[in-house]
Amino acid sequence: MPRVLLNDGLAADAVNALKSLGVDCDTTHYEEADLHRELAAADAIVIRSATRLRDPEIDAAVAGGRLKLIIRGGVGIDNINHEYARSKGIEVRNTPGASSASVAELVIAHMFAVSRFLPAANVTMRQGQWNKKQYKGRELGGAVCGIVGFGRIGRETGRRALALGMQVLYYDSYEGVEHVEGCTRLSLTEVLERSDYLSLNVPHAKGEPALIGAAELARMKKGAVLVNCSRGGVVDEAALLASLEDGHLGGAGIDVYENEPEYNQALAAHPLVSVTPHIGAQTTQAQARVGQEVVDILREGLGF
Ligand code: NAD
Repeated sequence: MPRVLLNDGLAADAVNALKSLGVDCDTTHYEEADLHRELAAADAIVIRSATRLRDPEIDAAVAGGRLKLIIRGGVGIDNINHEYARSKGIEVRNTPGASSASVAELVIAHMFAVSRFLPAANVTMRQGQWNKKQYKGRELGGAVCGIVGFGRIGRETGRRALALGMQVLYYDSYEGVEHVEGCTRLSLTEVLERSDYLSLNVPHAKGEPALIGAAELARMKKGAVLVNCSRGGVVDEAALLASLEDGHLGGAGIDVYENEPEYNQALAAHPLVSVTPHIGAQTTQAQARVGQEVVDILREGLGF
């Protein structure tokens, strides 16, 4: 019977499906020495973002001689030393498309939230204030939506922005990226300069310099709104806060942070900022799709 660690949880339907296929599923969240012990006695491990699999974890798995497969239920595999794992003969997989629609919806939700002052209105109304005159918002329809990184999530965001009547411009560093009818491909500088709303949808590796720093923010239109639902570190948080404070940017929507679960409190407290705690993929539908993909990958990888 294959033994699989589900260290960061998995949708209940997927766990039940695995159990009915005879898989020994362990849904305990193990850390450090306990995780090393369990990795030595498992055939596969499924994680989300909470578990880090670095060299010591991979060495512990190799020592046990059983682990064949690491699955990241989600997109980014930046929490796995995947090159090292592969060099030791352990396959590393993810579920790239399962959460794109959910993340794209969150991008648009942040755009609406910032445009209509929802974060500030929610807080001040709970404090008993009726600040109607301060919350003169703007419509998304007719505005320019720029997208940096036109991969799965970028394209889903573009389709939704088009449906709202926005003009969609995008930049992607990959020449062969799939185009979406109705969207316009431009250089990064043009997208920065022309967007009323800018969504960042690129990958990021820890330690890499921010793609969007003070110079790029300065190129954006005065009053523009920046949304980052990709990875903390894609935008320089200090520069973003400075741009909001000096009145250049008109707002920001942020789901991901340079340091998680710690986060920049000053940025989160800014009245023109809409914040969420890395919940882009956290919907019932996305997690059900992730669960189904994980079951398929396990069946293929472990042959049951
Ligand atoms: P993807 O690989 O499908 O698309 C990424 C695109 O970015 C690619 O087309 C690539 O060519 C482009 N790109 C890479 N570097 C670039 C650069 N420097 N400039 C311009 N374009 C560049 O990935 P995806 O599934 O669309 O995911 C995008 C991001 O969203 C990733 O960082 C992922 O980790 C993140 N994500 C966040 C959540 C969340 O919960 N907030 C959930 C899922 C994914």
